[in-house]
Amino acid sequence: MRFITDGMLGKLTRWLRILGHDVEYSIDLNDNELIEVAIESSRILLTKDRALYKRARTMGVNAFCVEGNTGAQRLAELSRRFNVMLTVDVTNSLCPTCNKRLLKATKKEVAYRVEKKTLAHYNFFLRCPECGRIYWIGAHWKRIYGTLSEATEILNKKRES
Ligand SMILES: [Zn+2]
Repeated sequence: MRFITDGMLGKLTRWLRILGHDVEYSIDLNDNELIEVAIESSRILLTKDRALYKRARTMGVNAFCVEGNTGAQRLAELSRRFNVMLTVDVTNSLCPTCNKRLLKATKKEVAYRVEKKTLAHYNFFLRCPECGRIYWIGAHWKRIYGTLSEATEILNKKRES
């Protein structure tokens, strides 16, 4: 699924990219430009701004008003509305920073870019062809999985009620 997010949703943008979704994001776009890009590139407009949401809807744009305050709440909403999967397959992930599909990288390729300890601990690395950042599933992923399971719980509760 392809999205465009307003300037308030930087964090959600990164999340969606990690989950494998193509998300256009720029803090420089005004409301008119957001609507224009959404129409031109058939993207779903995600916004926290009710007025923008309403305007987009009257112009026939597929838009969604994000209500939740935490990452987990927002992901649960999107999962409910657009069936966004709350699991990560990193071979499908896009760079959280530049929205480019990540490529697998060998230890040799990343050796000069990551710390020795990291290189010794992990075997699976990904590289962004745009910005060159290196990614791996390290200790920080505990938080990512934590947020995703929190989102799943919220979603299940909503489904029950
Ligand atoms: Zn990148």
